[in-house]
Amino acid sequence: MKKSDEGKRMHCQACGRAILTKRGTIAHHGYGRPEAYLQTASCMGAKELPFEVDRKVLGRLIVALKDMQTRMQGVRDQIAREVLPVDASTRSALVRR
Ligand SMILES: [Zn+2]
Repeated sequence: MKKSDEGKRMHCQACGRAILTKRGTIAHHGYGRPEAYLQTASCMGAKELPFEVDRKVLGRLIVALKDMQTRMQGVRDQIAREVLPVDASTRSALVRR
C-alpha cells in the first residue's frame, strides 16, 4: 500500500479486500489471475458502499452462494443417479437461469 493511500481504503463487501474508496464507494477492482494479461472480471463489490458502511452486497452474495450450492447439489445428485451425463452440458446445468 502506498503511503499516500493510507486512510483512503475501506473493505469490499464481497471480497473483503482493502480497496481505495472514491466518493464514498469502493473503486473498481477485479479478481487477480497471474496467468492472464487481460482485464479480469469485476468484483461484485466494486462501485458499491464499503463493508464498514453497508452490507447489502454481502447479503446478496450469501443468497447467490446458497442458491449455487443448491444447484450444484442437484446436479451432483443427478450425476450420481446417472440421469445427467458428465459432459459440456453439465456446466450449463450449473449456470444460473
Ligand atoms: Zn471486492
